[in-house]
Amino acid sequence: MTAETGHEDATSCDVLVVGGGPAGCSAGVFTARAGLETHIVEHRRSLLRKSAHLENYLGFPDGVRPQTFLEIARDHARTAGCTYETATVESVERTDGDAGRFRAATTDGVIDAAFVLVASWSDCSFLEAVGVETGIEEGGHVPIVEIDDDGRTSVEGIYAAGRLTDQHHQAIVNAGHGAHVALALVRDVRPSYYNDWVVPEGYYEAYDRAVPDGVEAIDHEERERRLERSRRTMRTYFAERPEE
Ligand SMILES: Cc1cc2nc3c(=O)[nH]c(=O)nc-3n(C[C@H](O)[C@H](O)[C@H](O)COP(=O)(O)OP(=O)(O)OC[C@H]3O[C@@H](n4cnc5c(N)ncnc54)[C@H](O)[C@@H]3O)c2cc1C
Repeated sequence: MTAETGHEDATSCDVLVVGGGPAGCSAGVFTARAGLETHIVEHRRSLLRKSAHLENYLGFPDGVRPQTFLEIARDHARTAGCTYETATVESVERTDGDAGRFRAATTDGVIDAAFVLVASWSDCSFLEAVGVETGIEEGGHVPIVEIDDDGRTSVEGIYAAGRLTDQHHQAIVNAGHGAHVALALVRDVRPSYYNDWVVPEGYYEAYDRAVPDGVEAIDHEERERRLERSRRTMRTYFAERPEE
């Protein structure tokens, strides 16, 4: 799903994710795994860098260094198939009327996208030109993006997730919200999509069913290969590093 960008050097993708914090990376994992070409742009200023130690993210019983968590999150998005770029998004506009694609201008160039998923706490000023409805966070003063229950904004094709949509102030909540909104986008594009699951080979056959859209079935050898790869990968993040 790509289109003419109308700009020679533009990066073209299905989904542009603005923000590489918990919400943006999580969203990218789900859109990319669903086969949508996903490009993440962030300027590396996740709020999570301010945490001293992340202790309430399920899966890390003794907590995790926030910078390590963000590194894992970015690598996870890349492994899932996202491309990734460090830059600031300065504006988003429609390319050709209400049914058109979007063109985002960044500090480094131009990105053409069919959909935009914004997870950019606390900046949404770059959405002004395209007319996304915004508000103010409850009990605060920071701008937020108004969304429906599935993260759709007032502009068709633009979704928003994470703290920027006034979710609770915890990384796991924002990551979960990124996943929720990404899956809503996937189902808007691909209504037959069932679940992002990896199941043992034969699971659906036992129920006399075909493997549904979105599900991957893997055999024993492949399970073993993936287990070994995941062990190797996780060891690298938690090995002692002189710079820490
Ligand atoms: C002091 C402090 C301590 C905290 N401690 C914890 C804790 O212990 N546990 C916990 O669960 N939560 C903690 N939090 C909350 C946690 O940081 C947030 O809930 C979480 O980071 C929000 O995720 P997000 O992806 O929505 O936004 P962020 O993590 O802030 O990510 C936003 C992303 O958008 C990018 N961005 C913004 N504008 C642009 C733009 N124009 N162009 C390109 N990129 C852009 C940023 O670079 C960043 O990548 C803490 C927060 C603070 C302030």
